[in-house]
Amino acid sequence: MAMPTHAKTVIIGAGIHGLSTAWHLAEKLEAQGKGGGQDILVIDKSGIAAGASGIACGVVRNNYFQPAMRELMAHSVEVWESDPKAFSYHPVGYMQISPEHMRADIASIHAQQQDIGYESVFIEGAAQSMDYMKGLFSDWQTKGITSVLHEKKGGYANNTAAIYGLAAKAEALGVRIMSGVTVKGFRAGNGAAAVTAVETDKGDIECDQVVIAAGPWVSQLWNMLDLPKTVAIKGSDGQMHEGVDTWRYWCLEEGTLGVDPDLQKTNDGKMPPVIHVDTDAPLHSDVDGSLITEEAWGIYYKPDFNFGGIQGGAMPYKVETPVDKVALDPYGPDSPEFIVDDNFAHMWCSALAFCQKRFEGQIKYYKNEASGGLGCFTPDSFPVFDRFRENVTVIADSNHGYKMIGVGKLIAEELTGGKSRLLEPFRFSRYAEGKLHPVSNSPFPWS
Ligand SMILES: Cc1cc2nc3c(=O)[nH]c(=O)nc-3n(C[C@H](O)[C@H](O)[C@H](O)COP(=O)(O)OP(=O)(O)OC[C@H]3O[C@@H](n4cnc5c(N)ncnc54)[C@H](O)[C@@H]3O)c2cc1C
Repeated sequence: MAMPTHAKTVIIGAGIHGLSTAWHLAEKLEAQGKGGGQDILVIDKSGIAAGASGIACGVVRNNYFQPAMRELMAHSVEVWESDPKAFSYHPVGYMQISPEHMRADIASIHAQQQDIGYESVFIEGAAQSMDYMKGLFSDWQTKGITSVLHEKKGGYANNTAAIYGLAAKAEALGVRIMSGVTVKGFRAGNGAAAVTAVETDKGDIECDQVVIAAGPWVSQLWNMLDLPKTVAIKGSDGQMHEGVDTWRYWCLEEGTLGVDPDLQKTNDGKMPPVIHVDTDAPLHSDVDGSLITEEAWGIYYKPDFNFGGIQGGAMPYKVETPVDKVALDPYGPDSPEFIVDDNFAHMWCSALAFCQKRFEGQIKYYKNEASGGLGCFTPDSFPVFDRFRENVTVIADSNHGYKMIGVGKLIAEELTGGKSRLLEPFRFSRYAEGKLHPVSNSPFPWS
């Protein structure tokens, strides 16, 4: 395909958000009798699913302490459910299994799920929680658990398959997707803020509007737009906190236990929900009984034929390197720096054995391959969806985003002149205005 020199809408990034936006925008334009995707160009420096979307665990859940996040996730689940086959989506449900210090948070999540019609069951009490889990898995053996939230919707999708599904839907409506095109900067008219062209290593592309869906690379694109590297945040104390970094990186730790995925079937032979366990019970090694941690910890896992085993992860760790110096490329499993090590395998496999007897002694089957990857987080670890420089929409999901397939639909509404109520709580101005989201007691930065 020849390199276009003009496109009305240029979307940077062929991951979940860029392609969902492209597909929905093309659908909208077609419905409005304004053509379809012919004037939408998606460019990616690597290719489709080359970023975080291509390595994500793929978990789709509603379990969020923040009402605005929950509503957004419920909307996204509807998009997943609209075509499970094309998105390789498995609606097996999701379980949040928690210790006492999280019980009140999770109870409020459950209550609010009922309010928005998101089906879930909530079990309280140590004995009741154990009974409920044993009803699903006879070998359940966690300690320190006093509540179980069982979301009947959600589940997981096969990471790259879903992204290719989105690409096919976008291309069927005329959207062009170009791989191997790297954005180097933006051009604006004389003294004006609005971007008039995207500068790439293959030439400039003039445009009317730009969408940045660059996942972990968002901080680089942000710098190219000359947007602020720090923000002032109005705290809950009413005080302004100046000079907070706009971006920071966390490294996600995930891996696969290479056993038959069928090993994790439920008592009645069904594919199980995705399991997420948080606890403050001490974790001991499944290899030699030594103490791994006495701090609160958490893991998640699911059987996954795509990964070839039981796949999941644990809490991420914060990358201390200054944000502009973090080596983003090569990304994911190709990174020499941001992949999991033996400590992760030891912790995660021991944690699996803590949860279910069937995983005891199985660490020998852990797949010794590179996995994990970086996520780019905002100051409060919640997404920023907003317009900058008049015609540039930034989708910065703060690493929540594989599950958020519906965000592109809402962005498409805004690109065609609408306003999205669901996106409103995620504007950049919330930091200065102190309109922050409530913070949960989870050990994960994304709950
Ligand atoms: C290991 C891991 C597991 C995860 N698991 C889950 C999960 O289970 N559930 C969940 O909801 N979320 C999960 N996430 C988070 C989720 O993957 C991301 O939030 C989401 O995929 C981001 O999508 P995106 O479209 O914004 O970016 P990406 O998928 O990263 O796509 C961005 C694209 O932009 C391109 N690009 C970057 N810079 C440029 C440039 N200068 N020029 C041109 N192109 C450029 C890249 O090549 C890339 O293809 C996980 C993340 C990681 C790292």
